Amino acid sequence: MHFSDYGLTSEQRALCQAVRDLCARFPETYWRDLDARTAYPTEFIDALTEGGYLASMIPEEFGGMGLGVMDGGLILEEVNRSGGNSAPGHAQMYIMGTLLRHGSPEQKEAYLPEIAKGTLRLQAFGVTEPDAGSDTLSITTRAVREGTKYVVNGRKVFISRVLQSDLMLLLVRTTPKEQCARRTEGLSVLLVDLRRAIGDGLEVRPIDTMVNHHSNELIIDNLEVPTENLVGEEGMGFRYILSSMNAERILVASESIGDGRYFVERAVQYANERKVFGKPIGQNQGVQYPIARAYAAVECARLMRDKAARLFDEGGNPGEEANLAKLLGAEAAWQAANMCMDTHGGYGMATEYNIERKFRESRLYMVAPVTNNMVLNYISHQVLGLPRS
Ligand SMILES: Cc1cc2nc3c(=O)[nH]c(=O)nc-3n(C[C@H](O)[C@H](O)[C@H](O)COP(=O)(O)OP(=O)(O)OC[C@H]3O[C@@H](n4cnc5c(N)ncnc54)[C@H](O)[C@@H]3O)c2cc1C
Repeated sequence: MHFSDYGLTSEQRALCQAVRDLCARFPETYWRDLDARTAYPTEFIDALTEGGYLASMIPEEFGGMGLGVMDGGLILEEVNRSGGNSAPGHAQMYIMGTLLRHGSPEQKEAYLPEIAKGTLRLQAFGVTEPDAGSDTLSITTRAVREGTKYVVNGRKVFISRVLQSDLMLLLVRTTPKEQCARRTEGLSVLLVDLRRAIGDGLEVRPIDTMVNHHSNELIIDNLEVPTENLVGEEGMGFRYILSSMNAERILVASESIGDGRYFVERAVQYANERKVFGKPIGQNQGVQYPIARAYAAVECARLMRDKAARLFDEGGNPGEEANLAKLLGAEAAWQAANMCMDTHGGYGMATEYNIERKFRESRLYMVAPVTNNMVLNYISHQVLGLPRS
């Protein structure tokens, strides 16, 4: 089935085709087997890295492709549309922005070329804490400066890919909340070298989740981080994280759109093939309409993703569009996931059909990296000017 590639340049169409070709080497049996073993897709991530795709948004001067967030989004969309899962590799794309925009020239020179080559992995981003949750400004993991190092103590939860990464961006509090003039001050971003930290101040406890996501609880106990690993200025970390969030929302929306297209494609195929009562089930409007509605929702979310990505790549700061794209994308993927389950009857629940795995994977984006309620808060308060709840 052919989805619209309206508005894409010939280079972008070629990029999508190249990613599709790469993904064809990793069929759904590959992903299903990993899911059953809760294993990391090392071969797939290696192939994405060798193809340069994980470095697509790193500027050419540092060895990357120098592409925009629209191109990055198309890469992730195609991975998810193929039946695969971008999540094991997506963080590298969106946390890179913090290092790129706010890192010192020395940090960029030291890390970006190696990340682009694939010899260093920057896949972990430590923000969430058990007692702060969505309220990021209330995190308490504390970094105290002692001469040329920070000493860090605290706890993080749901931090993904820590055991599959060499570096982690860690959000810490450097000034206690009550001593800050503004709520948004006093947080800082540290680049933690996991190869040294694990076992020496950082304990990693894997958390089993309903998706194969490699998330962990982190116990941070007198972890020493050199002050040269501070990204940007001390106390300004929240602003740096915020500045990467639009890219993150656009990229995550793209994954949801890929999921949505996957579900629609699979549902159409099955509805045409499966015959009961002597006719294809897709001949029943009770089966057709949910597919048509899901298709409409996914394609609509895609238009908003395209708008957000274009504004971002033109140098804008499209907070409204990026949030709308994340919301519409996650909801459309979830609508499509339910539709696809229904279309498959009992077979949707059989692991062999892959639908239940994609169903679980697509559900994550209603919650992470930010819950849809928090996105609705942004739209209500920042866009519509409604009073804060
Ligand atoms: C598989 C997985 C991987 C993850 N990976 C990472 C990672 O790599 N790095 C990282 O830092 N974090 C990660 N997270 C954490 C994720 O970002 C958080 O789970 C998410 O931001 C929500 O925080 P919480 O779970 O504490 O929910 P809570 O903040 O406790 O929220 C619970 C519910 O209450 C609602 N709620 C809370 N406050 C409000 C409000 N003011 N208005 C309306 N509704 C509200 C929320 O929307 C939600 O529905 C991951 C989570 C999962 C499940």
